[in-house]
Amino acid sequence: MSVKVLQAKISVLEAHDRIAQRVRQTLNEMNIKMIDVLGGPGAGKTSIIKQLVTRLKDKFKIAYIGGDLATAKDAEELSKLNVPSIQINTGTECHLEAPWVEDALKELLKEGKPDIIFVENVGNLICPFEFDIGAHVRMLIFSVDSGGKEKFEKYPIAVLRSSIIVINKIDVANIFDINVEELIQTGKKMNPKAEIVAVSAKTGEGIDKLADILLKHLRIK
Ligand code: MG
Ligand code: ZN
Repeated sequence: MSVKVLQAKISVLEAHDRIAQRVRQTLNEMNIKMIDVLGGPGAGKTSIIKQLVTRLKDKFKIAYIGGDLATAKDAEELSKLNVPSIQINTGTECHLEAPWVEDALKELLKEGKPDIIFVENVGNLICPFEFDIGAHVRMLIFSVDSGGKEKFEKYPIAVLRSSIIVINKIDVANIFDINVEELIQTGKKMNPKAEIVAVSAKTGEGIDKLADILLKHLRIK
């Protein structure tokens, strides 16, 4: 009797990461830069993206992909700034995965080629950091009004796997008893390679500096 041999399939995560690499390769071939924006709910991801879009949109074509369990509210906000926007509703999934980003990218490209794509991940400080979505830069948004001064230490993976870390809502740091300088030092100790920027999406403080740092990381001017 003949024996059937089955090749073991690659693991689910390995298959996922191959798609992420394919996304990044497509972006590189088309000279498009993509930023994965991560942070807990209410940290100010959408507000910071909007501020950056306002600063950068005269010079660069910008597009937006947003991940949320439900609703298209964030994509609607961005489309008000004339940014081609796509919302991915993840249903019960608490993070974005590369195949969904790949589908969204295909849709976006029908509207022309952007220079920069902001991907707003699902509001969550844990599992989105386990999934490479094909972006060039991970930007973590942390706000002073949630989690207190130990937040960086409580979420080490988020700090270690981000190359830009934004401390948002510094206009209310005093009210929440947060010493922004100390927080920056904590972050630097944990991840010396990361750039840490303190901003207020509300007042616009620090956003010019953040835009410069972002362009430097993306290697575009
Ligand atoms: Mg949002
Ligand atoms: Zn998740």
